[in-house]
Amino acid sequence: ILPGPVPGASRPATLGVMGGGQLGRMFVHAAQTMGYAVAVLDPDPVSPAGRAADVHIATGYEDEAGLAQLMQRCEAITTEFENVPAAALTTLAAQRPVAPGPHAVAVAQDRIAEKTHFDRCAAHTGVAPAPWVAITNAEALAQVPDRLLPGILKTARLGYDGKGQISVEDRAQLAQAWDALHRVPCVLEQRLALRAEYSVILARGADGQSVHYPLQRNWHRNGILAVTEVDPNGSAAGPDWAAQAMAAAEAIAAALHYVGVLCVEFFVVDDGSSTGRLVVNEMAPRPHNSGHYTIDACDVSQFELQVRALAGLPLTAPRLHSAAVMLNLLGDCWWRDGQPHSPDWARVLTLPGVHLHLYGKLQARPGRKMGHLTVTATDLPRARAVAWQAAQWLG
Ligand code: ADP
Ligand code: MG
Repeated sequence: ILPGPVPGASRPATLGVMGGGQLGRMFVHAAQTMGYAVAVLDPDPVSPAGRAADVHIATGYEDEAGLAQLMQRCEAITTEFENVPAAALTTLAAQRPVAPGPHAVAVAQDRIAEKTHFDRCAAHTGVAPAPWVAITNAEALAQVPDRLLPGILKTARLGYDGKGQISVEDRAQLAQAWDALHRVPCVLEQRLALRAEYSVILARGADGQSVHYPLQRNWHRNGILAVTEVDPNGSAAGPDWAAQAMAAAEAIAAALHYVGVLCVEFFVVDDGSSTGRLVVNEMAPRPHNSGHYTIDACDVSQFELQVRALAGLPLTAPRLHSAAVMLNLLGDCWWRDGQPHSPDWARVLTLPGVHLHLYGKLQARPGRKMGHLTVTATDLPRARAVAWQAAQWLG
C-alpha cells in the first residue's frame, strides 16, 4: 500500500487503527508524515489518537457499523492496544490486511496462551518464562505446587501496568487473592529475584524478515514503566543478554507468523550463578512505551516501522544514533500537595537534548500516562545527568 494519493481516486491511501490511545496517536503522526491518511476507531470522543486522525469513528470496538466504516475507509488496519477484541480483528481481517493478525493478538491478550507459547519457544531458544501454572478452577488452585510460592497471581486477561496482580506468600494468601480477583482465570507465577528488566522491540514483515532495536533497560514504579535507557556504546546488560533476548523475541514472533511491531519484556533473575539468567515475561503486540525513545534517538521510530510493516513497505534496520533516557510523565506531575499545578516546562526545556511529548489528554489523573520526556545525548552518563535534573524539577 503505497503512501500518497491513490491513483484515479482523489484521496490519500488510508491506514486504520483500532484504539485511540497515545500509541495510536504516535502511529497517526508517523503515518501522516509519510503521506497516509489515518482513520481511528475508538469510543472516546476525545481520545488522543482520534483527535490527531483524519477520520475518527467513535463507536465501540465490536460495533458492526463502525467496523464496516473502518474497512470501507482503509486499505489496511492495525491495533494500538492489545485488548481490542480479537473477534473484531477477525472481522476486519476477512476484508483487509490486518497487522498484527488476530491470532497473534489473541495469544498476547491471554497470559495462559502467551506463557504456553513462550514454553514452546523455550524448547528452541532456552529462554523460558518464570515457572507458572494456570488457575482456572478450585482444583487447579488446590494443586498448585509448593515451588511456585511465594508467587504473583495475575489475571489471564486485561491486566496492565501492574493492575490485576497480587503478590502472595503462601497458600492462604493465594486463595484470598483469587477471591479478590473474583475467581477469573489467572496464572500463578513464581516470584523471582529480579536483577534487571529489559525489553526488545522488533518489526517483522509479511516476508518473515525482521529488524530490531537494541536491548533497552526498564525501571518500573508501582507497576508502571517509569524509565527506559539505551546506550549506543554497548549494552548496559552483559554482552550475552542482548543476543539471547533478540533470538528469543525473533523465535516468539516467527512462531506466530507475526507481522508488525512486537515488544517482548525480559527479566534477568538471580539463579545463584554469577551472571544470573534471562527469563521472558510478556509481550505486547504493538509499539511499546519502552520504545518511545526511538522517535528521538533512532533514525527510524517504532511507529514508522509499524506503518511500513502494515503497508508492506521495506523495513530497514533502525540505527540508534544517541544515548537516550526516557521518563514517563504521569498525571501526578500536574498535582502538588493535593492542588492542581503546572509543571515548569520552560525550565525543563532549558536542558540540552530534552524532547517533550504530551499526548493531548485533557485530564491529568494521578497514575495516568500523560506524556514522556526523552533525553538524548552523546553518551549515557550525560543523558542520565540531564534526565535526573529534569526529574527533580518535575517533582
Ligand atoms: P503488566 O501487564 O502489568 O506489565 P507484568 O507481568 O509485566 O504485567 O508485571 C509488571 C511488573 O511486575 C514487572 O515489570 C515486574 O517488575 C514485576 N513482576 C512481574 N512478574 C514478576 C515475577 N514473576 N517475579 C518478580 N517480579 C515480577
Ligand atoms: Mg509488563
